[in-house]
Amino acid sequence: MAIAKNQVVILDYRLQNGGPDGDLIEETFGSQPLQFIYGIGQMIPAFEENLESKNEGDEFAFLIKAAEGYGVHDPNAVVEIPMQQFEVEGKVDPEHIKPGRPLQLQDPQGQTYRGVVQSHTTEVVTVDFNHPMAGTDLHFTGVIRTVREATESELDHGHVHE
Ligand SMILES: [Zn+2]
Repeated sequence: MAIAKNQVVILDYRLQNGGPDGDLIEETFGSQPLQFIYGIGQMIPAFEENLESKNEGDEFAFLIKAAEGYGVHDPNAVVEIPMQQFEVEGKVDPEHIKPGRPLQLQDPQGQTYRGVVQSHTTEVVTVDFNHPMAGTDLHFTGVIRTVREATESELDHGHVHE
């Protein structure tokens, strides 16, 4: 069966940074394959476009430029936050404010933002709120394992059932 809207697709992939010789970012080979319902917005649109009409057993290799993937790196999403805001009972836990450390911050409306500490001084913490893969060209290779119709309840729920 060829991949089309509302079908369950199960595939294995390897994701590399920038091209076929780039650093390995993640892969499903040797663990759980990726499964999703095609055409309902679960995946990056460019990812789905590259898989359209493929069949079980087909292999794939394609590059998604950052702009069509997780976006380009936005310098406006790198912000300085006063160190005071990280105080708990008047103290900052130095373990929490280290370069590379993921953070979750809430605005007054309760909206949560995920970021990563880039650097800090005693007064301010520079936090990058870009998606961790922003600015990365995504090179995918892999193989289609299964293509089947989604059941009614899978379409209702918007995800694949085992
Ligand atoms: Zn469900």
